[in-house]
Amino acid sequence: MASPSMTLSIAFAVLLLAGLVVRLWLANRQARHVWRHREQVPAAFAGTVSAEAHRKAAGYTIARLRLGIVEAAVDTAVLLGWTLLGGLDALNQALLAWLGPGMTQQLALLGAFALIGAVPSLLLGWWSTFRIEARFGFNRMSMRLWLADLLKGTAVATVVGLPIAALVLWLMGSAGPWWWLWAWGAWMGFNLLLLVLYPTFIAPLFNKFEPLTDETVKARVQALMQRCGFAAKGLFVMDGSRRSAHANAYFTGFGAAKRVVFFDTLLRQLEPGEIDAVLAHELGHFKRRHILQRLVLMFALSLAGFALLGWLSGQSWFFTGLGATPSLAASNDALALILFLLLAPVATFFLSPLLAQLSRRHEFEADAYASEQANGHELASALLKLYQDNASTLTPDPLYARFYYSHPPASERLARLLPSPGTA
Ligand SMILES: [Zn+2]
Repeated sequence: MASPSMTLSIAFAVLLLAGLVVRLWLANRQARHVWRHREQVPAAFAGTVSAEAHRKAAGYTIARLRLGIVEAAVDTAVLLGWTLLGGLDALNQALLAWLGPGMTQQLALLGAFALIGAVPSLLLGWWSTFRIEARFGFNRMSMRLWLADLLKGTAVATVVGLPIAALVLWLMGSAGPWWWLWAWGAWMGFNLLLLVLYPTFIAPLFNKFEPLTDETVKARVQALMQRCGFAAKGLFVMDGSRRSAHANAYFTGFGAAKRVVFFDTLLRQLEPGEIDAVLAHELGHFKRRHILQRLVLMFALSLAGFALLGWLSGQSWFFTGLGATPSLAASNDALALILFLLLAPVATFFLSPLLAQLSRRHEFEADAYASEQANGHELASALLKLYQDNASTLTPDPLYARFYYSHPPASERLARLLPSPGTA
């Protein structure tokens, strides 16, 4: 009979490899599908999308997929290195020998794990920005700005992350068998606090936010928000063009601190009516309670996660099955926390299509709301411009889109916004 520890090792390895195989297989399908359709603009877009833009989108999509394949391979290697190959265990032993048991060692373990784990994603991020985004004309960042972002991001992560990490570790160590419920409460409170603090204190560290001054756009947007019964603290323009040519608009904060943020790139690319429609779509996410649903879902999932961690952290096979040795003389809480963080994405990878599907349903609902409150044709033309400017492919592989896409493919969205396209 296999021991629980051995069973966990095997299940983890199988899930990890199965996840890798599916990721590579889907990426390959998507690349081939996009490549096969690169010369032919789909009929529904024939009048609006040029052959050149369509080919560019294909090239860009495939370049990003190639990076995704490297990323999948690196992820898998890193996960194996931390767990079954003993990387995390070695780090933990080294820090125990150096610092001795205690909160300092626990926090050092979390910090060292985060720093080492950041190296591969940094390299991939650098490649993405200065190779791929630059090659397709999207990148606006200098090396200097990229480094400044990196330093600021690390500083913010430390200032924000260290206290909550220390609080969770302290609860794990001293709040008794129900610690995970307390830790969950602390984690939720922390997330809500971040929602409030982010727009006012953190986002301005990275971007400039200025009140919207374009009177035409402002008047239209305010009329739209009044029509929809939506109160926001302000309308802001963000200098998204500092970093990228990609365009966007979003809501941030909640309660009385809600604000609407437009990327300057979006205001430049869209006509006032199209901006209205895009904003109405975003309002739709509020009015159809998608934001609330997502928040509740996140609360529920993290409760389940903490409960599971509460149980697993008391089982020695949980550690040994993932390549670590729990110490008898010191607390193993940080070790358990990290192993759980490594295990969770592997265990839940095959659930991602469910979340993607929920998200796509929400997008359709927000589109429908935008058609009622603004103009479906304007939304369609805005989406087309954004698809083109972002070089998003119009011809995704259907299976790939089902698995990953948080937004429905362009053809499906436009088909609903413009009844009977291409039949005229
Ligand atoms: Zn949306």
